[in-house]
Amino acid sequence: MTTPRKLGFGCMRLPLTDPEDFAKVDMAQVEKMVDTFLEHGFTYFDTAYMYHEFQSEKIVRAALVERHDRSAFTLATKLPTMFLKTEGDQERIFAEQLEKCGVDYFDYYLLHNLNVANYRKVCRFDSFAFAARMKAEGKIRHVGFSFHDSAELLDEILTAHPETEFVQLQINYMDWENESIQSRRCYETARRHGKPVVVMEPVKGGTLARLPEEAEQRFRAVRPELSPASWAIRYAAGLDGVMMVLSGMSTMEQLSDNISYMQHFEPLNAEERAAVEDAVGIINRSIAVPCTACRYCVDGCPKQIAIPEYFALYNNAEQSLNKGFSVQTVYYANLAQTHGRASDCIGCRKCEKSCPQHLPIVEHLRQVAARFDKEE
Ligand code: SF4
Ligand code: SF4
Repeated sequence: MTTPRKLGFGCMRLPLTDPEDFAKVDMAQVEKMVDTFLEHGFTYFDTAYMYHEFQSEKIVRAALVERHDRSAFTLATKLPTMFLKTEGDQERIFAEQLEKCGVDYFDYYLLHNLNVANYRKVCRFDSFAFAARMKAEGKIRHVGFSFHDSAELLDEILTAHPETEFVQLQINYMDWENESIQSRRCYETARRHGKPVVVMEPVKGGTLARLPEEAEQRFRAVRPELSPASWAIRYAAGLDGVMMVLSGMSTMEQLSDNISYMQHFEPLNAEERAAVEDAVGIINRSIAVPCTACRYCVDGCPKQIAIPEYFALYNNAEQSLNKGFSVQTVYYANLAQTHGRASDCIGCRKCEKSCPQHLPIVEHLRQVAARFDKEE
């Protein structure tokens, strides 16, 4: 697989005419952004069945497919594993996606959001075989999957399905060592299996585009001309084996900024990497629950609540500026399938006795429950 430039246009946060309505996309603005993106030599577009209230694929057709030569771009979309009820749904949805996008084939086709539950479903419906059949029929060029779960599950899937050509992972400098997202461990697992990586959420839903002042100053001291978002995208793009970094661009300003440093991409140098490490420390000091993920609290919990994982997700969600779709809710729901929920806490305080940080865990779990158990 050869891809000329490592910035992909994510079509899940397109500009809106009504900020409260994700189906109301500003088409004139999208067309301008698509044209500008292509003019600068970028080609990769990433959409999915349900983005923008199920409208994103149609928007891609109108703004991209019907206005540009098919050879001028590469298109990725995804089988919505979460909506599959029968094996036959795959055929029906795939045909609908070709129609919605107005294409004869997809360059990249992903099984969307593999986690414990969706992978079980994918096994039941033989989705990898379905994708292989579509590939053999010339309707897909490359098959992969997007993933939101543990490195252990990723290893299991890649071992069972060596035919996978690439994986899409959440990677950014804040999640690199995050207990729940496991960016580094998932990345290392994918590379061990020799798979190219597409990066999603490099700017953590916009969180890393607006940093605490101290972190911004640290970056400005090294490269005053660069935006905070540029550090996040260059961090992800510089990793070995990363073939594409997706950015869900919502404005022409964001697009122009991304183009300015990705057109002639340079990985972070040693001085810049040191600045990122410092920024991680600064951002972590500003977080809502200062849990160090030591896990001393976990074993004694009678409800098997995933305490450090939930706190990591809560911290992520609190730092996020994005008040719409919250990816942390997806991770929370995944974990809650095999652990107690935050709202299951009975207040026995066994965990608090073993916490070296002396955190008021019960109180923090109430905050977690208020955010995620309500959101779901
Ligand atoms: S207080 Fe809640 S989280 Fe802590 S051990 Fe008891 S049930 Fe588990
Ligand atoms: S013991 Fe405290 S610091 Fe350690 S993981 Fe549990 S809540 Fe976090």
